[in-house]
Parts: sequence; C-alpha cells; structure tokens
Amino acid sequence: MGQNMAEKKVIISDSITVGELADTLQLSVTSLIGELFKNGIVATINQRIDFETATIIVEELGIDVDLQQRSGGSDSTQARPKHQIVGEGVERPPIVAVMGHVDHGKTSLLDAILNKKTVDQEAGGITQHISAYQAERNGRSITLLDTPGHEAFAALRQHGAVLTDVVIIVVAADDGVKPQTVEAIRFARNANARIIVAINKMDKETANPQLVKTQLASEHGLNPEEWGGDTVMVEVSAKSGQGLDKLMDMVLLVADMEELRADEKTPAEGLVIEAHMETGRGAVVGLLVEHGKLTPGSYIVAGSVYGKVRTMQNFKGEPLKVAGPSTPVTVTGFKDVPQFGEAFYLVKNERQARQKTAQAKIDAERQAASTNITGADLLKMMNQKHDAKDFNVIVRADVQGSLTSVIDSLKLIETGGEVTLRVISSGIGNISENDIRLAASDANTVIYGFNVDLPPAVKRLGARDKVQVRLYTIIYELLDDARHSMEALLAPEVVETKLGSLTIKGVFRTMRDEVIAGGEVTNGKVAAGMQARVLRKGQEIAEVEVIRVQRQQQEAKEVFEGEMCGLSLRTNKKVLLEEGDTVEFFSREVVQRTL
Ligand code: GDP
Repeated sequence: MGQNMAEKKVIISDSITVGELADTLQLSVTSLIGELFKNGIVATINQRIDFETATIIVEELGIDVDLQQRSGGSDSTQARPKHQIVGEGVERPPIVAVMGHVDHGKTSLLDAILNKKTVDQEAGGITQHISAYQAERNGRSITLLDTPGHEAFAALRQHGAVLTDVVIIVVAADDGVKPQTVEAIRFARNANARIIVAINKMDKETANPQLVKTQLASEHGLNPEEWGGDTVMVEVSAKSGQGLDKLMDMVLLVADMEELRADEKTPAEGLVIEAHMETGRGAVVGLLVEHGKLTPGSYIVAGSVYGKVRTMQNFKGEPLKVAGPSTPVTVTGFKDVPQFGEAFYLVKNERQARQKTAQAKIDAERQAASTNITGADLLKMMNQKHDAKDFNVIVRADVQGSLTSVIDSLKLIETGGEVTLRVISSGIGNISENDIRLAASDANTVIYGFNVDLPPAVKRLGARDKVQVRLYTIIYELLDDARHSMEALLAPEVVETKLGSLTIKGVFRTMRDEVIAGGEVTNGKVAAGMQARVLRKGQEIAEVEVIRVQRQQQEAKEVFEGEMCGLSLRTNKKVLLEEGDTVEFFSREVVQRTL
C-alpha cells in the first residue's frame, strides 16, 4: 500500500486541509508542509489550501497523481456551470492570451499585430487601460488578451473562468526558455488551451530559434511540427514584422480545429477582465462577452456588484450598440468596481440585481473563511523566488540633478550579485499612469518618487493594480527602503536545526501510518511535535513526525540524552523500523536572509 501510486487518480474538492491532502496523497504531513515551506508559505496541518495550490504542490513534488477537482462543488463562484449552447450556436472569434517571460516582447508583439504605435507614444502619455483587443485577419476577428501578469491569469482560473482558447507563448530567440515561459506553459495546459509558440526577436543577430525549440522539446514536451511534433512554432519579429501574418493564420487554423461556438440567443454573459474607478466616469469595467449580445441599458450583475450599462465602447474607445460573443468592451454604469475574473450576467431589473448581489456577498464571505492558502498566493511566492534576480525600479524625481544622484546611489547598493537592481524607467515629474502600467506588469517592480507627487487618479490606478509606489524626500530613506526590498527578494532559506538523535532498541507496533518503538536518546533531546528522519546504515529510509514521547510508560514532554523512551511516530507509509536504526530529530524554519 502506498508504494505504487502510478497513474493514480485522486479527486478532491475546491479546498482541502493540509492534513487531508497529505492523507489523500499518502504523504507525510511534514513533507507537504516542507514543500509549502520551500515556496515560502508557512502552513499548519489544519490550514486549508485550494485546488490550484494542491495541483502545483503535486507537480512540484513530482508525484504521479492525477489530481482532479470534484465538479459541481458547493461554492458559487468556482462552480460556474458551463454554458450549454442551444442548437447550433454561432461561430465565434478565438480568444487568445499572449504570455511569456518579461521583456521577451509580449507588448511589442501585440502592438505590431494591432498595428499601433506603443500606447506610451500615442496620446502624450495618456494611456487607456484596455487589456483586450481585436485583430482582423482575412475578414475574421481574433480577440487578444494582454494578460497583465500570470497571477491575474491564476485569479481568472480560480473563479473557474477559463476563457482562453489559444495561448501564444512568446519566447525571445536570443534568450530562450525562462521561468515565466515555463509558468505560461503550465497555465496554458491547466487551462486546456492550445499552445502556439512565437519565437520572437528573429531580427537579432544573436537569435537562436533552434535552441529555443530544443529547450521546449526536450524539457517541456512541446515538439515543433517540423520535428514531427504537434506544437505550432512561428518565428517572428515584432520589430520587423516578420512572421506576424503567419502567426495570425496559425491562430485561426488552430482555432478552427476547436470549432469555437457561442450561443447568441441567450441573455448576455461573460467575464470581468478589468475594472477600475475613474473620476467623472465612476467604475470603468472591461467585459468579455462570451454568450449572447450585450447592449447599453441592460442590468448586469458581477459577483456582489451590479449596474445598468450606461456607455459601452469597443477596444478603440468607439461607442458600440451591441457586443456579441468574444467581444471585449468597456462599460460604465456599475455601482462599484467588480472583481477581476468575476462572471457577469444579465438580470431583468434593479430589484433582481440587488437580490443576486446580496447572496453573492454571503457566498464570498463563506468562501473567504474556508480557504487560507490560494494558488495565487503560492504563485506569487514562487514568482518572487524565480524572479529573485531582478529588482526593478522606476524612478521619478523633481529635477535632473536629484534624479541622477538617486539612480547612481541605487546602483551602488551591494547585493553580492544575487539580486540585480534594474532601473527600467526614469524621468522628471510626478508619478504618471504610464509608470503604473509599466510597474503593473511585474510584481517585483517598485516606483520611487523623490520630491514628487502621486496625483490622486494615478494613486487609484496604482491601488487597483497593486503597484508599489513609494515617495521620499530624504535620499537615504529611499535607499534604505530599496535595500530592504532587495533583501526581501533573496530566496528564503529553509534552515534545519538538529535537536537530538536516538537509537532504536525495540519495535512495538507497526501500523500503516504510525510506528511505536523504544530507544535510547544518544544526543540532545526528543519531544512531541518534532520532525525526524530515520537512518539505517547512514541512509535515510523515512521522514517521520514525533506524535508522543513516553518515559517509563508515562507521557513525557521531553526526554534527554542518556534516557530510554517510548516513541510514537507518524509515517506516510508503512515503515518497518529495526533495532539499531537511528532517528534524528530536527526543526525546520523559513529564514529571511539579509544583505
Ligand atoms: P514584454 O515585457 O514581454 O511586454 O516585452 P516588450 O514588448 O516590452 O519588449 C521588451 C524589449 O524587447 C523592448 O525593448 C522591445 O523593444 C524589444 N523587442 C521586442 N520585440 C522585439 C523584436 O522582435 N526584435 C528586437 N530586436 N527587439 C524587440
């Protein structure tokens, strides 16, 4: 039992406690907690983790278990039923997410496909916060999502909203596969989306598409078609425009294989893909229509928020009278800002809207109480770990002189090479919306303002996108802050402290998940709750947890060197202890390092 778990299918619900998951996976609680530890999350046995986290952990541990989510869970937001199309339905444009490692050219590629100048240059720094676009190719539409970050994508998934048909994974030909590339692949697979790889920056002399393909094929199971595999890979350049038409053709081709259809004759429904407050306009909400046709004047509900659509615009900001399936729109009229990733649907009137939102509030509270650790948390921690190399800053100052000295001083912070400070943008004047937008694309980016202001509208935007903006008037305070932020990026260390050891003198009882044995403490001490490993001839044979310690048949708190004791050990599988085995006790702690 517990030895051969190959191809095992395990079904769990929306969330599960650490203890239950360990049990289900026939793992020791210690090793599960240890794995969470390694990712910077301190968990206890009774803490609940969500399905996404469980999946990631299983994958990280390399356990051969096919984890599946119990369908039709009790929770309202997670178990959004799939829309059943009545009749034939209509063909709809594919929904395509563009993902990839930072700086590999996602934004440039989107800009090139949409044939627009970078938004930054366009309207004198006035950016519109649109995250979905539509491109035309051979008279057909393609909906493109500019995924603001993988975390956001994780949030979408958490709401059960898997809306992407195709994921274009952008890999720079001169840089190859990077951590966020791997994450993007994982997301695409979890979302059941088709993957197309865009090997970008082909115009560069150092471009090495063969290497990218080899990495993807050998390490990530993505085999290019030309090598007999089934992954479409297109060599492109956002700069020269090379391969972009082919990329779009491939998207349409792949989409055709999926037979994407939608229900047009149904009340409009879809997802919130963006939302923020704007002075004068109120809640400005990006919606992606999935089914039905949305028109101004409709009452819509998204989670615990509702509204009556007052204005509706397409991605270019032009007014729209009707939006059908796969169309991204920006609407106003919501009473408040709905949550990103929330499903929206139509209701008849305001009274009905109120009823629905009240119920959603109750559900949301219940949900918040039941899950302690979410996939988004874990990913955030993992991201921080993977990206620990770069600490990106945007610097704004009042005058050129202070800007230069702030930047120069920042660059002098000594980190031993482990964390690199990169000034990704700098300028004179107040913090701008552009700064926020730039910072929002990477969790490790901080905006520093020296002797400048953060205008209220920009502040709201920053709050919405969870961008860190820090204002200073004293330079060494700014530098101290930067140093602390860089320290926070150093990967936490899991430190084990040896507490004692014991030699087994006799084994009393062996059960599937518990062993009772006796022995002599040869060193240090042993106490209930300690973690331990069993060694035989110097080789580890199991990791265990001390449940109880007894001295002369009496429960004891601690037993010290030289004393005999009885031990009850929790095991994740049947462990056959032998006389002479050594048990080493230790504690495990996550320690934040400092520079
Ligand atoms: P993102 O972080 O993935 O959105 O990347 P960006 O689109 O911001 O691009 C990062 C950098 O790579 C920018 O300096 C771009 O000008 C540059 N870049 C993007 N695509 C290409 C390309 O096809 N060729 C070259 N030479 N540079 C590119």
